[in-house]
Amino acid sequence: MKVLVINAGSSSLKYQLYDMSNEAVLAKGLVERIGIEGSLLTHRPEGKDKHVIETEMPDHKIAIQLVLDALVDPVVGVIKNVDEITAVGHRIVHGGEKYSSSVLLDDQLMEELKEVSKLAPLHNPPALIGIRACRELMPHTPMTAVFDTSFHQTMDPVAYMYAIPYELYESDKIRRYGFHGTSHKYVANRAAEMLNRNIEDMKIVTCHLGNGSSVTAVKHGKAIDTSMGFTPLAGLVMGTRTGDMDPAIVTYLMSEKGWDAKAVDNLMNKKSGVLGVSGVSSDFRDLEKAAAEGNKRAQLALDMFHYRVRKYIGSYAAAMGGIDAIVFTAGLGENSPMAREEILKGLEFLGFEVDLAKDNVRGKEVIFSSDNSRVKLMVIPTNEELMIARDTKVLVQEAKH
Ligand code: ADP
Repeated sequence: MKVLVINAGSSSLKYQLYDMSNEAVLAKGLVERIGIEGSLLTHRPEGKDKHVIETEMPDHKIAIQLVLDALVDPVVGVIKNVDEITAVGHRIVHGGEKYSSSVLLDDQLMEELKEVSKLAPLHNPPALIGIRACRELMPHTPMTAVFDTSFHQTMDPVAYMYAIPYELYESDKIRRYGFHGTSHKYVANRAAEMLNRNIEDMKIVTCHLGNGSSVTAVKHGKAIDTSMGFTPLAGLVMGTRTGDMDPAIVTYLMSEKGWDAKAVDNLMNKKSGVLGVSGVSSDFRDLEKAAAEGNKRAQLALDMFHYRVRKYIGSYAAAMGGIDAIVFTAGLGENSPMAREEILKGLEFLGFEVDLAKDNVRGKEVIFSSDNSRVKLMVIPTNEELMIARDTKVLVQEAKH
Protein backbone atom coordinates (compact mmCIF):
# COMPACT_ATOMS: atom_id res chain seq x y z
CA MET A 1 0.00 0.00 0.00
CA LYS A 2 1.30 3.47 -0.91
CA VAL A 3 0.11 6.44 1.12
CA LEU A 4 0.60 10.10 0.23
CA VAL A 5 0.72 12.45 3.22
CA ILE A 6 -0.18 16.09 2.62
CA ASN A 7 0.24 19.02 4.98
CA ALA A 8 -1.20 22.12 3.34
CA GLY A 9 -0.69 25.64 4.64
CA SER A 10 -1.98 28.89 3.17
CA SER A 11 0.90 29.31 0.73
CA SER A 12 2.90 26.13 1.23
CA LEU A 13 2.37 22.40 1.01
CA LYS A 14 4.55 19.56 2.29
CA TYR A 15 4.17 15.99 1.06
CA GLN A 16 5.65 12.53 1.59
CA LEU A 17 4.89 9.33 -0.27
CA TYR A 18 5.24 6.15 1.82
CA ASP A 19 5.45 2.52 0.87
CA MET A 20 3.59 1.12 3.87
CA SER A 21 4.85 -2.43 3.35
CA ASN A 22 8.05 -1.30 5.08
CA GLU A 23 7.20 2.34 5.97
CA ALA A 24 9.88 3.56 3.56
CA VAL A 25 9.69 7.14 2.25
CA LEU A 26 9.68 6.97 -1.56
CA ALA A 27 9.73 10.74 -2.08
CA LYS A 28 9.05 13.93 -0.22
CA GLY A 29 8.90 17.57 -1.05
CA LEU A 30 7.75 21.07 -0.44
CA VAL A 31 5.77 23.56 -2.50
CA GLU A 32 6.33 27.18 -1.52
CA ARG A 33 4.72 30.47 -2.48
CA ILE A 34 1.42 29.06 -3.77
CA GLY A 35 -0.57 31.99 -5.12
CA ILE A 36 2.43 34.30 -4.77
CA GLU A 37 4.96 35.26 -7.41
CA GLY A 38 7.97 32.91 -7.49
CA SER A 39 6.16 29.59 -6.76
CA LEU A 40 8.56 26.72 -6.26
CA LEU A 41 8.36 22.93 -5.95
CA THR A 42 11.31 21.09 -4.41
CA HIS A 43 10.88 17.35 -5.01
CA ARG A 44 13.18 14.88 -3.26
CA PRO A 45 12.90 11.35 -4.61
CA GLU A 46 14.62 8.74 -2.43
CA GLY A 47 18.01 7.76 -3.83
CA LYS A 48 17.92 10.40 -6.58
CA ASP A 49 18.96 14.04 -6.78
CA LYS A 50 16.49 16.68 -5.69
CA HIS A 51 14.53 18.34 -8.45
CA VAL A 52 13.37 21.97 -8.34
CA ILE A 53 10.51 23.25 -10.48
CA GLU A 54 9.92 26.98 -10.69
CA THR A 55 6.62 27.73 -12.33
CA GLU A 56 3.50 29.72 -11.60
CA MET A 57 1.20 28.00 -9.10
CA PRO A 58 -1.83 30.24 -8.65
CA ASP A 59 -3.70 27.78 -6.44
CA HIS A 60 -3.46 24.53 -4.44
CA LYS A 61 -5.01 22.42 -7.19
CA ILE A 62 -2.27 23.35 -9.63
CA ALA A 63 0.36 22.81 -6.93
CA ILE A 64 -0.98 19.31 -6.13
CA GLN A 65 -1.19 18.46 -9.84
CA LEU A 66 2.51 19.36 -10.14
CA VAL A 67 3.32 17.17 -7.13
CA LEU A 68 1.47 14.23 -8.74
CA ASP A 69 3.27 14.91 -12.03
CA ALA A 70 6.62 14.85 -10.21
CA LEU A 71 5.73 11.57 -8.47
CA VAL A 72 5.01 9.84 -11.82
CA ASP A 73 7.71 11.60 -13.86
CA PRO A 74 9.82 9.12 -15.88
CA VAL A 75 13.06 10.65 -14.56
CA VAL A 76 12.45 12.04 -11.06
CA GLY A 77 9.30 10.04 -10.29
CA VAL A 78 8.99 7.07 -7.94
CA ILE A 79 5.75 5.47 -9.22
CA LYS A 80 4.43 4.80 -12.71
CA ASN A 81 0.84 5.87 -12.25
CA VAL A 82 -1.15 8.00 -9.79
CA ASP A 83 -3.45 4.97 -9.30
CA GLU A 84 -0.63 3.35 -7.34
CA ILE A 85 -1.41 5.79 -4.50
CA THR A 86 -3.84 3.79 -2.36
CA ALA A 87 -4.82 6.62 -0.05
CA VAL A 88 -4.04 10.21 0.93
CA GLY A 89 -3.68 11.36 4.55
CA HIS A 90 -4.22 15.05 5.26
CA ARG A 91 -2.96 16.91 8.32
CA ILE A 92 -5.51 19.27 9.86
CA VAL A 93 -4.64 21.49 12.80
CA HIS A 94 -7.99 21.66 14.59
CA GLY A 95 -10.49 18.86 15.04
CA GLY A 96 -12.46 20.61 17.76
CA GLU A 97 -14.13 18.42 20.37
CA LYS A 98 -15.62 16.15 17.79
CA TYR A 99 -12.56 14.30 16.55
CA SER A 100 -10.60 12.32 19.09
CA SER A 101 -9.04 10.20 16.36
CA SER A 102 -8.30 10.30 12.66
CA VAL A 103 -11.22 9.84 10.26
CA LEU A 104 -12.01 8.91 6.67
CA LEU A 105 -13.06 11.94 4.64
CA ASP A 106 -16.41 12.17 2.92
CA ASP A 107 -18.77 14.98 1.87
CA GLN A 108 -20.44 15.12 5.27
CA LEU A 109 -17.12 15.39 7.06
CA MET A 110 -16.04 18.20 4.74
CA GLU A 111 -19.17 20.11 5.83
CA GLU A 112 -18.48 19.44 9.51
CA LEU A 113 -14.89 20.56 9.13
CA LYS A 114 -16.06 23.93 7.85
CA GLU A 115 -17.81 24.38 11.19
CA VAL A 116 -14.65 23.45 13.14
CA SER A 117 -12.66 25.97 11.04
CA LYS A 118 -14.15 28.78 13.10
CA LEU A 119 -11.88 27.62 15.93
CA ALA A 120 -8.74 27.80 13.76
CA PRO A 121 -9.38 30.49 11.15
CA LEU A 122 -5.70 30.73 10.20
CA HIS A 123 -4.90 27.05 9.96
CA ASN A 124 -7.90 24.94 8.98
CA PRO A 125 -9.10 26.77 5.84
CA PRO A 126 -5.84 26.24 3.88
CA ALA A 127 -5.89 22.53 4.80
CA LEU A 128 -9.48 22.29 3.54
CA ILE A 129 -8.49 23.99 0.29
CA GLY A 130 -5.72 21.39 -0.09
CA ILE A 131 -8.15 18.53 0.59
CA ARG A 132 -10.72 19.85 -1.85
CA ALA A 133 -8.09 20.19 -4.57
CA CYS A 134 -6.81 16.70 -3.89
CA ARG A 135 -10.30 15.18 -3.98
CA GLU A 136 -10.95 16.82 -7.33
CA LEU A 137 -7.72 15.45 -8.76
CA MET A 138 -8.09 11.96 -7.23
CA PRO A 139 -11.85 11.46 -6.90
CA HIS A 140 -11.67 7.69 -6.33
CA THR A 141 -8.80 7.64 -3.84
CA PRO A 142 -9.77 7.30 -0.16
CA MET A 143 -8.59 10.20 1.99
CA THR A 144 -8.26 10.74 5.73
CA ALA A 145 -7.99 13.68 8.09
CA VAL A 146 -5.49 13.51 10.95
CA PHE A 147 -5.85 16.24 13.57
CA ASP A 148 -3.23 17.94 15.76
CA THR A 149 -5.80 18.14 18.53
CA SER A 150 -7.02 14.50 18.60
CA PHE A 151 -4.42 13.06 20.96
CA HIS A 152 -5.31 15.66 23.60
CA GLN A 153 -9.02 14.82 23.60
CA THR A 154 -8.40 12.38 26.47
CA MET A 155 -7.87 15.32 28.85
CA ASP A 156 -10.23 15.61 31.78
CA PRO A 157 -12.41 18.73 32.14
CA VAL A 158 -10.33 19.67 35.18
CA ALA A 159 -7.37 20.12 32.80
CA TYR A 160 -9.16 21.52 29.76
CA MET A 161 -11.67 23.95 31.25
CA TYR A 162 -10.83 27.63 31.77
CA ALA A 163 -12.17 29.37 34.84
CA ILE A 164 -14.56 31.59 32.88
CA PRO A 165 -18.36 31.38 32.92
CA TYR A 166 -19.37 27.86 31.90
CA GLU A 167 -21.82 29.24 29.34
CA LEU A 168 -18.88 30.37 27.17
CA TYR A 169 -17.69 26.78 26.97
CA GLU A 170 -21.19 25.68 26.00
CA SER A 171 -21.84 28.41 23.44
CA ASP A 172 -18.39 28.95 21.92
CA LYS A 173 -16.46 25.81 22.90
CA ILE A 174 -13.83 27.91 24.64
CA ARG A 175 -11.56 25.36 26.35
CA ARG A 176 -8.04 23.98 26.13
CA TYR A 177 -7.53 21.84 23.02
CA GLY A 178 -3.76 21.46 22.74
CA PHE A 179 -1.77 21.03 19.53
CA HIS A 180 1.24 19.07 18.14
CA GLY A 181 -0.78 16.00 19.22
CA THR A 182 0.48 13.76 16.43
CA SER A 183 4.05 14.51 17.46
CA HIS A 184 3.47 14.01 21.20
CA LYS A 185 1.70 10.71 20.49
CA TYR A 186 4.47 9.47 18.23
CA VAL A 187 7.36 10.24 20.59
CA ALA A 188 5.53 8.96 23.71
CA ASN A 189 4.83 5.63 22.03
CA ARG A 190 8.32 5.43 20.61
CA ALA A 191 9.79 6.15 24.08
CA ALA A 192 7.94 3.16 25.57
CA GLU A 193 9.09 1.02 22.65
CA MET A 194 12.73 2.08 23.05
CA LEU A 195 12.60 1.35 26.78
CA ASN A 196 10.90 -1.98 26.18
CA ARG A 197 8.07 -0.98 28.46
CA ASN A 198 4.31 -0.93 28.20
CA ILE A 199 3.16 2.67 27.69
CA GLU A 200 0.11 1.88 29.83
CA ASP A 201 2.39 1.57 32.86
CA MET A 202 4.32 4.80 32.17
CA LYS A 203 4.25 8.50 33.00
CA ILE A 204 5.97 10.47 30.26
CA VAL A 205 6.51 14.19 29.67
CA THR A 206 7.01 14.97 26.00
CA CYS A 207 8.64 18.30 25.06
CA HIS A 208 8.06 19.37 21.44
CA LEU A 209 10.43 22.34 21.11
CA GLY A 210 10.62 24.16 17.78
CA ASN A 211 9.41 27.51 16.50
CA GLY A 212 6.13 26.58 18.12
CA SER A 213 6.62 24.61 21.32
CA SER A 214 4.48 22.57 23.67
CA VAL A 215 4.81 20.11 26.54
CA THR A 216 2.40 17.22 27.19
CA ALA A 217 1.83 14.96 30.20
CA VAL A 218 1.19 11.44 28.89
CA LYS A 219 -0.06 9.14 31.64
CA HIS A 220 -0.61 5.48 30.81
CA GLY A 221 -0.57 6.29 27.08
CA LYS A 222 -3.12 9.11 27.28
CA ALA A 223 -2.58 12.87 27.20
CA ILE A 224 -3.83 14.25 30.52
CA ASP A 225 -2.59 17.82 30.14
CA THR A 226 -0.77 19.97 27.60
CA SER A 227 0.67 23.46 27.55
CA MET A 228 -1.04 24.89 24.45
CA GLY A 229 -4.62 25.94 24.95
CA PHE A 230 -7.63 27.26 23.07
CA THR A 231 -5.08 28.31 20.47
CA PRO A 232 -1.38 27.52 19.92
CA LEU A 233 -0.48 30.80 21.68
CA ALA A 234 -0.55 29.42 25.23
CA GLY A 235 2.11 27.73 27.32
CA LEU A 236 5.82 27.95 26.61
CA VAL A 237 7.74 31.00 25.47
CA MET A 238 8.07 30.44 21.72
CA GLY A 239 9.92 31.86 18.72
CA THR A 240 7.54 34.79 18.31
CA ARG A 241 4.63 33.89 20.64
CA THR A 242 4.24 34.99 24.24
CA GLY A 243 3.04 31.73 25.72
CA ASP A 244 1.40 32.15 29.13
CA MET A 245 1.07 35.71 30.39
CA ASP A 246 -1.29 37.68 32.58
CA PRO A 247 -4.41 38.07 30.39
CA ALA A 248 -4.92 41.54 31.84
CA ILE A 249 -1.97 42.72 29.71
CA VAL A 250 -4.35 42.44 26.74
CA THR A 251 -6.96 44.75 28.25
CA TYR A 252 -4.21 47.10 29.46
CA LEU A 253 -2.84 47.47 25.91
CA MET A 254 -6.34 48.04 24.57
CA SER A 255 -7.53 50.54 27.15
CA GLU A 256 -4.26 52.37 27.94
CA LYS A 257 -2.63 52.33 24.53
CA GLY A 258 -5.74 52.25 22.35
CA TRP A 259 -4.68 49.12 20.48
CA ASP A 260 -7.35 47.09 18.72
CA ALA A 261 -7.76 43.32 18.86
CA LYS A 262 -5.82 42.79 15.65
CA ALA A 263 -2.82 44.79 16.88
CA VAL A 264 -2.69 42.90 20.19
CA ASP A 265 -3.08 39.59 18.40
CA ASN A 266 -0.21 40.48 16.08
CA LEU A 267 1.97 41.51 19.02
CA MET A 268 1.32 38.29 20.94
CA ASN A 269 1.71 35.92 17.97
CA LYS A 270 4.34 37.55 15.78
CA LYS A 271 6.40 40.02 17.80
CA SER A 272 6.79 38.37 21.17
CA GLY A 273 8.51 35.23 22.47
CA VAL A 274 12.29 34.98 22.31
CA LEU A 275 12.25 37.41 19.36
CA GLY A 276 10.47 40.10 21.37
CA VAL A 277 12.65 39.70 24.45
CA SER A 278 16.00 39.44 22.64
CA GLY A 279 15.37 41.82 19.76
CA VAL A 280 17.74 39.50 17.89
CA SER A 281 15.85 36.61 16.28
CA SER A 282 13.15 33.99 16.71
CA ASP A 283 15.60 31.32 15.60
CA PHE A 284 17.27 29.47 18.47
CA ARG A 285 20.51 28.97 16.54
CA ASP A 286 20.89 32.76 16.19
CA LEU A 287 20.04 33.23 19.85
CA GLU A 288 22.49 30.63 21.12
CA LYS A 289 25.18 32.30 19.00
CA ALA A 290 24.32 35.84 20.14
CA ALA A 291 24.20 34.75 23.80
CA ALA A 292 27.59 33.06 23.47
CA GLU A 293 28.94 36.35 22.10
CA GLY A 294 27.70 38.16 25.20
CA ASN A 295 24.31 39.54 24.11
CA LYS A 296 22.47 39.88 27.44
CA ARG A 297 18.94 40.08 26.04
CA ALA A 298 19.53 36.97 23.92
CA GLN A 299 20.71 35.22 27.08
CA LEU A 300 17.66 36.45 29.01
CA ALA A 301 15.32 35.17 26.27
CA LEU A 302 16.98 31.74 26.36
CA ASP A 303 16.92 31.65 30.17
CA MET A 304 13.20 32.50 30.16
CA PHE A 305 12.51 29.82 27.59
CA HIS A 306 14.42 27.14 29.54
CA TYR A 307 12.85 28.19 32.85
CA ARG A 308 9.32 27.95 31.48
CA VAL A 309 9.90 24.44 30.06
CA ARG A 310 11.46 23.39 33.41
CA LYS A 311 8.38 24.64 35.29
CA TYR A 312 6.03 22.76 32.97
CA ILE A 313 7.97 19.51 33.43
CA GLY A 314 7.76 20.00 37.20
CA SER A 315 4.06 20.76 37.13
CA TYR A 316 3.35 17.70 34.98
CA ALA A 317 5.30 15.54 37.43
CA ALA A 318 2.85 16.86 40.01
CA ALA A 319 -0.15 16.30 37.73
CA MET A 320 0.83 12.66 37.06
CA GLY A 321 2.24 11.85 40.51
CA GLY A 322 5.73 11.20 39.12
CA ILE A 323 7.65 10.78 35.88
CA ASP A 324 9.33 7.79 34.23
CA ALA A 325 10.69 9.52 31.14
CA ILE A 326 11.22 13.01 29.70
CA VAL A 327 11.37 13.14 25.90
CA PHE A 328 12.75 15.97 23.74
CA THR A 329 11.72 16.39 20.12
CA ALA A 330 11.35 18.88 17.19
CA GLY A 331 13.94 21.33 15.78
CA LEU A 332 15.36 22.61 19.05
CA GLY A 333 14.57 19.59 21.24
CA GLU A 334 16.29 17.21 18.83
CA ASN A 335 19.26 19.38 17.97
CA SER A 336 20.36 21.42 20.97
CA PRO A 337 22.16 19.60 23.82
CA MET A 338 22.58 23.03 25.43
CA ALA A 339 18.81 23.62 25.55
CA ARG A 340 18.14 20.13 26.95
CA GLU A 341 20.79 20.51 29.65
CA GLU A 342 19.71 24.02 30.66
CA ILE A 343 16.05 22.95 30.89
CA LEU A 344 16.90 19.95 33.06
CA LYS A 345 19.15 21.89 35.48
CA GLY A 346 17.63 21.76 38.94
CA LEU A 347 15.19 18.97 38.09
CA GLU A 348 17.60 16.19 39.13
CA PHE A 349 15.52 15.67 42.29
CA LEU A 350 12.99 13.93 40.04
CA GLY A 351 15.47 11.04 39.82
CA PHE A 352 17.88 11.41 36.92
CA GLU A 353 21.42 12.36 36.05
CA VAL A 354 22.34 13.73 32.61
CA ASP A 355 25.11 11.81 30.85
CA LEU A 356 26.76 14.67 28.98
CA ALA A 357 28.65 12.39 26.59
CA LYS A 358 25.43 10.63 25.54
CA ASP A 359 23.57 13.94 25.23
CA ASN A 360 26.00 15.17 22.61
CA VAL A 361 23.74 14.17 19.69
CA ARG A 362 21.68 16.00 17.10
CA GLY A 363 18.61 14.58 15.40
CA LYS A 364 19.10 10.99 16.58
CA GLU A 365 17.29 8.69 18.99
CA VAL A 366 19.20 8.42 22.25
CA ILE A 367 18.67 7.76 25.96
CA PHE A 368 20.94 10.34 27.57
CA SER A 369 20.32 9.74 31.27
CA SER A 370 23.07 7.88 33.16
CA ASP A 371 22.51 4.12 33.38
CA ASN A 372 21.45 4.25 37.03
CA SER A 373 18.86 7.02 36.51
CA ARG A 374 15.33 6.01 37.49
CA VAL A 375 13.86 8.66 35.18
CA LYS A 376 14.97 8.21 31.58
CA LEU A 377 15.93 11.24 29.48
CA MET A 378 15.46 10.77 25.76
CA VAL A 379 15.83 12.46 22.39
CA ILE A 380 13.40 11.12 19.79
CA PRO A 381 13.14 12.81 16.37
CA THR A 382 9.46 13.33 15.70
CA ASN A 383 7.74 11.85 12.67
CA GLU A 384 4.27 13.31 12.26
CA GLU A 385 4.08 12.25 8.60
CA LEU A 386 4.65 8.60 9.47
CA MET A 387 1.89 8.77 12.12
CA ILE A 388 -0.48 10.23 9.50
CA ALA A 389 0.48 7.48 7.03
CA ARG A 390 -0.05 4.77 9.68
CA ASP A 391 -3.47 6.10 10.71
CA THR A 392 -4.45 6.35 7.04
CA LYS A 393 -3.42 2.77 6.37
CA VAL A 394 -5.45 1.48 9.33
CA LEU A 395 -8.56 3.50 8.41
CA VAL A 396 -8.47 2.41 4.77
CA GLN A 397 -7.99 -1.23 5.72
CA GLU A 398 -10.86 -1.04 8.23
CA ALA A 399 -13.13 0.53 5.60
CA LYS A 400 -12.48 -2.40 3.26
CA HIS A 401 -13.72 -4.96 5.78
P1 ADP B 1 8.52 24.37 13.40
O1 ADP B 1 8.21 23.01 12.83
O2 ADP B 1 7.72 24.71 14.61
O3 ADP B 1 8.59 25.47 12.39
P2 ADP B 1 11.10 23.18 13.99
O4 ADP B 1 10.66 22.02 14.77
O5 ADP B 1 11.65 22.98 12.63
O6 ADP B 1 10.00 24.31 13.97
O7 ADP B 1 12.22 23.95 14.88
C1 ADP B 1 12.83 25.10 14.44
C2 ADP B 1 13.74 25.65 15.55
O8 ADP B 1 14.73 24.68 15.88
C3 ADP B 1 14.47 26.90 15.12
O9 ADP B 1 14.38 27.90 16.11
C4 ADP B 1 15.89 26.43 14.99
O10 ADP B 1 16.81 27.44 15.31
C5 ADP B 1 15.97 25.33 16.00
N1 ADP B 1 17.12 24.47 15.68
C6 ADP B 1 17.28 23.67 14.62
N2 ADP B 1 18.52 23.11 14.63
C7 ADP B 1 19.15 23.59 15.74
C8 ADP B 1 20.45 23.42 16.31
N3 ADP B 1 21.35 22.63 15.74
N4 ADP B 1 20.73 24.09 17.45
C9 ADP B 1 19.83 24.90 18.02
N5 ADP B 1 18.60 25.10 17.53
C10 ADP B 1 18.26 24.47 16.41
